[in-house]
Amino acid sequence: MKLILIGFMGSGKSSVGRTLAKKLQLELVELDRLVLKSSGRKSIKEIFERDGETRFRELEIAQAKKLKNKNQAVIATGGGGGLDWLRPGSQVIWLKAGFNTITARLKTDFTRPLFKNQAAAHKLFSFRQPLYRRYADTIIETDNLTIDQVVEQIRQKIKICLIIGDPVSHSLSPLMHNAAYKALEIGHGFVFLASQVKPAELKTTIKMVRVVGVRGLTCTIPHKTAVIPLLDRLDPVAEKIGAVNTVVNDHGQLIGYNTDWLGAITALEKVTKLKNKSAAVFGAGGAARAIVFGLLKQGAKVTVFNRSVEKAWSLSREAGCQCGFSNNLEPIKTMDIIINATSVGMVPQINQSLVPKELIRPHQVVLDVVYAPHQTKLLKDATAQGAKIVPGLDMLLYQGTAQFELYTGRRAPVSAMRRVLIKYLQNQL
Ligand code: NAP
Repeated sequence: MKLILIGFMGSGKSSVGRTLAKKLQLELVELDRLVLKSSGRKSIKEIFERDGETRFRELEIAQAKKLKNKNQAVIATGGGGGLDWLRPGSQVIWLKAGFNTITARLKTDFTRPLFKNQAAAHKLFSFRQPLYRRYADTIIETDNLTIDQVVEQIRQKIKICLIIGDPVSHSLSPLMHNAAYKALEIGHGFVFLASQVKPAELKTTIKMVRVVGVRGLTCTIPHKTAVIPLLDRLDPVAEKIGAVNTVVNDHGQLIGYNTDWLGAITALEKVTKLKNKSAAVFGAGGAARAIVFGLLKQGAKVTVFNRSVEKAWSLSREAGCQCGFSNNLEPIKTMDIIINATSVGMVPQINQSLVPKELIRPHQVVLDVVYAPHQTKLLKDATAQGAKIVPGLDMLLYQGTAQFELYTGRRAPVSAMRRVLIKYLQNQL
């Protein structure tokens, strides 16, 4: 996650950046300082006087490129040439101030090369305004505010949601949530960012979540279990599952939920009732646990099949359901629902399936948690056998919509979220 403060000289980027970074326990990076360091000159003024503005902009872009993948930082920049590099995955905040305010603030500051000539400075100021507007996700009018008031406004105006994982770049959550903000036109108040957080950084990240007031924290591998002791409360189902993928910050109280089970159950319930239905679940990892507990909650009868038999036994004992043998899959013929909750069939192994095609029957419903490719081998086999299918994309979508509703309190725009997922996955494959 990074927050970028932009604005004209004298807009308060450095002072606000310092206070904000301190409060958020984030590093403050001032782009001008990096430019100065890389230039070998003594001051920005000297770069302008000796090397010219073009050289300054070149150095600025070079430093911005280096910061492209920087996370957990507040970056202050005049917004000259580097914003295209800095912007992806960031929240850009424009500290806006009128020209008169800026003139008054800089009255005694003789170090600003661009402010030597008032008329030229005004021209540059006017030229920059539409650029700032174009890049800004949030605008704070700073004219009559103290530094602390500006920082408070930033905290109030932007509700940050964040996905953490290691790795995290593959996650489709930012795409889905940001598309939903756009569809509901609440993008000025919410932002969904992704941050790669290593296991050793989890504790500090949770501290930061509390200090900043991050509204929603999505946890993916490897944090779904490790985050639990760092929270204040758990939803009872998440507690049973023993994994949290969704943390809501409710006025400083961090509450953990699991929406993976909801995603699978909602997707299944679109095509079948679950009460008293028999279900074969392949897998005993995180996704399988969520699905097994979800199915049992809805009154289904579950049998777990897993490559590592001990894990299958352990999950079935804990959940209070049956355990099947992977070397005897015949019993699944008579079951109502078959679920692949393993990664088998995912790209690039798209021709693999754990379920023999001939055991799939027309009366069955088949869910595959794998969403890339959209039509897995298992789903193709199920269609060919006349069964009803539920793609992994539906589970992904509904775990995301449940999460969106917990974070925003708004009804999720399901179609917009589905559209963006389908478009992305189609372009990927
Ligand atoms: P996990 O905790 O690492 O568990 C992986 C499971 O897959 C284990 O049961 C493992 O069996 C089994 N497995 C892996 N390779 C196998 C193979 N070659 N043959 C047989 N079994 C194999 O992972 P997870 O978090 O449960 O995720 C599993 C899949 O679900 C991933 O593809 C993930 O992307 C997907 N997922 C989808 C959604 C969604 O919304 N659609 C949500 C969550 C997860 P062993 O125990 O024997 O190793």
